[in-house]
Amino acid sequence: MEFLQIVIIYVLLFFLSVGLYFYRDSAILRTGIVGKICTIISSAIRIAVPKSLTMVLYNASQYFLYTRNQCMKVLFGVLVLAGNIICIMDMLPLLYKYLPDQNHTLIPIINAFASLYFFHKCCNGDPGEITPLNLEKYQSVYPYDERMYVPNAKCRTCKFVKPARSKHCSICNRCVHRFDHHCLWTNNDVGGLNHGYFVLFLLTMMFKCIWGFYIGIKSLVLYTQYHRLLETQVMTSNGEMKQVTYSIVLQHLFMQFPRLVFIVTSLFFLIILLGIFTIYHVNVVLTNRTTNERYKAAELEPINIDSKRLSSNKSKLQAGMKLNKNIKTVENLYDKGIIGNIYDTFWHRSIVKKIKFR
Ligand SMILES: [Zn+2]
Ligand SMILES: [Zn+2]
Repeated sequence: MEFLQIVIIYVLLFFLSVGLYFYRDSAILRTGIVGKICTIISSAIRIAVPKSLTMVLYNASQYFLYTRNQCMKVLFGVLVLAGNIICIMDMLPLLYKYLPDQNHTLIPIINAFASLYFFHKCCNGDPGEITPLNLEKYQSVYPYDERMYVPNAKCRTCKFVKPARSKHCSICNRCVHRFDHHCLWTNNDVGGLNHGYFVLFLLTMMFKCIWGFYIGIKSLVLYTQYHRLLETQVMTSNGEMKQVTYSIVLQHLFMQFPRLVFIVTSLFFLIILLGIFTIYHVNVVLTNRTTNERYKAAELEPINIDSKRLSSNKSKLQAGMKLNKNIKTVENLYDKGIIGNIYDTFWHRSIVKKIKFR
């Protein structure tokens, strides 16, 4: 099998695994043939793996995913450091060899420091922790929409009336203002006061990945052009000379620069995955609807579908009235338009500071 074919098979297997993971709870995967295969595999694992080992793995996953710990932060640091080391060791020598007059370090260094700063703010900044001291202030920021957030709803753990758009994080054991989600990588919540930093961190990380991918490809192309790899010929097993194919060149580059080719391939997938996540969070900013609210809205949705079904059985006028009512109920009360939403995310700390008590 040719090298390029092996790469394509790995790529397809990767996307298949990612797809199966993300849609594992969908009806088709849960109940269909994939669901049956998963059930058989999990049953086989249960029989083959000793229960004590299963418990150790289960406890470890509970610790990593559902407690506050520094493991993912350390893992993130190691991965970023390893990526940067490969860039310095493998990419920069090629770039400076073939393009010695250009500066290849200024932009990535500026971006790396910006990214580090935003990461620090995401990890150590206050996401908007609600305490009895600042409760009244946070209660004044947003009105209750009477759908996702109702007045006088108390947090069972914190024992106070939850401000609109807040949520109790069970991992950090605290209520957070304008809660988006608990981030494992930063070991902190993403809330009203640090959501802007989180988006900026994602954007700088995206830039880092795209830049790394770009200079990785560029250095490989420069090497290929300098050595005229595409113009060379290779001898086949029966002694004939033939022109090299892209597959052979790729295989040669992999043998010559294994780390470099590996990181360029990894960055390609990372750009897709991180890109989806970044676009999602940019959309969260532009629409001013947090991840937590998206889940809540999805839970409320069946009521509207049922109402629509109900209305379709009635006269058209009645149906229209019902539908209008439904649209109103799922409307986002906190949407202030694109500019207003950007301001609400990136200047939220000053908005909270300016709040006057009722
Ligand atoms: Zn948390
Ligand atoms: Zn709470």
